[in-house]
Amino acid sequence: MIDKYPDQSRRYPIMSAQATSDRRRPSVLVIDPSASNRALICECLRQLPEIRTMATGDADQALQMFRENLPGLVLLDTTQQDTNGIELTRKIRAWELSRIETGISPWTPIVFLSSVTDEDTLAQGILAGGDDFLSKPVSEVVLLAKVRAMLRISTRQQEICEVHRQLKEIAILDSLTGIPNRRHFDDTLAVEWKRCIRNDTPLSIVLSDVDFFKQFNDIYGHQAGDFCLKAVASSLSESLFRVEDTVARYGGEEFVAILPGTDANGAYAVAERMRQSACDLHIPHERGIDGRVSCSFGVASTHPSTEKAPQQLVKTADANLYAAKSAGRNRVILNLE
Ligand code: GH3
Ligand code: MG
Ligand code: MG
Repeated sequence: MIDKYPDQSRRYPIMSAQATSDRRRPSVLVIDPSASNRALICECLRQLPEIRTMATGDADQALQMFRENLPGLVLLDTTQQDTNGIELTRKIRAWELSRIETGISPWTPIVFLSSVTDEDTLAQGILAGGDDFLSKPVSEVVLLAKVRAMLRISTRQQEICEVHRQLKEIAILDSLTGIPNRRHFDDTLAVEWKRCIRNDTPLSIVLSDVDFFKQFNDIYGHQAGDFCLKAVASSLSESLFRVEDTVARYGGEEFVAILPGTDANGAYAVAERMRQSACDLHIPHERGIDGRVSCSFGVASTHPSTEKAPQQLVKTADANLYAAKSAGRNRVILNLE
């Protein structure tokens, strides 16, 4: 039994020696104000060589250790008043919620160790974010079985979070060129449109299209066409210097850049840089302008407002791109609204 100490004089290290070794192993954070209790739990957990353990009796330090180590399981003693287990549990859950970068909030199992068995306390603990109660004194067999079961769940959950993160990343990228796809463009334009309204700043977009690309495919083959699209995508992407600028594959051999906070003149300059950069790839194209691959560009710029729609900006850029094609290709056209 863990809560009864057959030999109080025994001294155990508060933190397992394993804690400093392999950080990839699942870890258990033991929070208990009693040093001897912590030591007993840690010693018991040492029977599971695949896990790391760390322990503390202080609530603030526990939260810090949780943030820094992201344990797979928390064992929290709620019997003793000096560690307010319920409050600490709420803080851990709030911090986890604040970290939703991937779309799925992480959830580390928290198991209360308590000698209080009344139902209200149990219900309060679960409401605060706890997952289970173990009544003290806890048998080693039960504790180890529970730790195994909870770590199994948290390991699976971490795997799901990782796969979800990877899928989200894949979902916004164009598989051929590796730059953001049309869907990401639509989402980003909507977000940036609102941001520009809030900040009262202009927003520009640059729509581009590879010139005579059908003929390029016909002459050099589809594989060479794919290679060309990848190179053009990289060159356009490298022409954007601001972190808030994005270039996406709009479809086929068309690309689109979103330039938040950039006015018409600035956008024209960026489009010109993009045009030059595509030409500088020097990809031979016997039917192309000057014997190489080039692109045409349509620029549109506006001061977003709630009365206007972002689709109008795309329409204007498209009309300007069409004008660039009609005027001879390999050029940038910007018609002010
Ligand atoms: P323009 O100068 O007027 O833009 O002429 P264009 O030949 O570039 O335009 P058109 O729309 O006639 O042809 C576009 C071509 O782009 C046809 C299509 O097969 C090719 N294309 C679209 N997506 C891909 C792709 O992913 N890979 C390859 N290799 N070709 C593609
Ligand atoms: Mg096209
Ligand atoms: Mg084209």
